[in-house]
Amino acid sequence: MTTMAVRTRVVAPQRDTGSQKALRERNIRMVVATLRAQGPRTQAALARATGLSTGTVSSIVRELETTGLVATASTISSGRRSVEVRLAPDPRVVVGVDIGRTHMRMLGWDAGRRAWGEQLVQLAPGHEPFETLPLAAEMLDGLLHEHHVDRSRVLCCGVALPASLEPVTGRVVQASVLPNWAGVDLGEALRDALGVPVVLENDANLGALAHYGAGQHAGAHSLVYVKVATGVGVGLSFDGSLYRSTTGITGEIGHVPVVDNGELCYCGNRGCLETLVSTRRLVGDLRRTRPERTWDVPEVVRAAQDGDVMVNRLLYDAGVALGLALAPVCNLLSPDDVVLGGPLAAGGQALLEGMVATVRQRALPATTGRTDFALTDLGETAEVQGACLLALQASLRSGDVLVSN
Ligand SMILES: [Zn+2]
Repeated sequence: MTTMAVRTRVVAPQRDTGSQKALRERNIRMVVATLRAQGPRTQAALARATGLSTGTVSSIVRELETTGLVATASTISSGRRSVEVRLAPDPRVVVGVDIGRTHMRMLGWDAGRRAWGEQLVQLAPGHEPFETLPLAAEMLDGLLHEHHVDRSRVLCCGVALPASLEPVTGRVVQASVLPNWAGVDLGEALRDALGVPVVLENDANLGALAHYGAGQHAGAHSLVYVKVATGVGVGLSFDGSLYRSTTGITGEIGHVPVVDNGELCYCGNRGCLETLVSTRRLVGDLRRTRPERTWDVPEVVRAAQDGDVMVNRLLYDAGVALGLALAPVCNLLSPDDVVLGGPLAAGGQALLEGMVATVRQRALPATTGRTDFALTDLGETAEVQGACLLALQASLRSGDVLVSN
């Protein structure tokens, strides 16, 4: 979906009623949509195309011009002097940052959700905020410099983390994947380091948001995103809004017990889903049983794609365990879409099949009768795309109105 989203500042006078404001916004949308569909137009042509009066069009054009969204030029049309209006490229940008256990990815978007730059660095497992935040600042400087983007154009930075974050403050409540980050007031630390407004969110939540915003699941009413990586997390999106709790902890499906008296989990419980399903577990099992090969996540993906029977069997079994924890979620929510993402997704067909077979077996058939179960179509950039989208949403909330078509 390439919905062009542009913004205009609402300068509604006090006396405006809600309905007058809504009418004005609708008229602005019509003008912007006409310019986008038909290209540059004179004010008179815009009035004819939208059915608005020339006075209304001219007032809207003045307002859009002050916010830099349109540009005007004098022209001669049918032998008469007139004003031609064209959409100006929106100079504002957002940046998404995805910080994982062993990577940091940065993505720049313009206000129309078009990517203009991306960077990826590998991080040492166990990295700490005091090392990673200055590196993030350095990466942001590099990204902006490389693409000639002035920092003043950055509306907001969205940051994805494999951790539970307290709403408002951004304090890391729980971070099993990034143990050295627990308890850090990350909102303030990131704002200081990056020098731009920052919004933070759990990475699985942002995966859900990204799929709502783009790809084959775009616009899904209810979407469950399952991220299988070092841990297992779930993000829930309802009509593009994320489900958030007051504690900041949601989607902890990795700690749903799926085996009675199973292996001890680091959370203190036994038989949690994460004791059976994670890249750590999968790679560990393969290193132990097939030491002749050098196993890591990309190697597992390659083997799965090559049809390695044992690897696909392990992935299928992991999918079955996922399905055990996901079936009650499906009974509870009856979601339209369940999307499986994370670094295994590229070779994750067997993982998906095991999960779907188990959910179909254990959930009420009617709850999943219309559910589309799929591997992510956004690859490993889902979380960072979600971070960009969150940054756009956050900046659009602060006193501006979204004008889109
Ligand atoms: Zn656990």
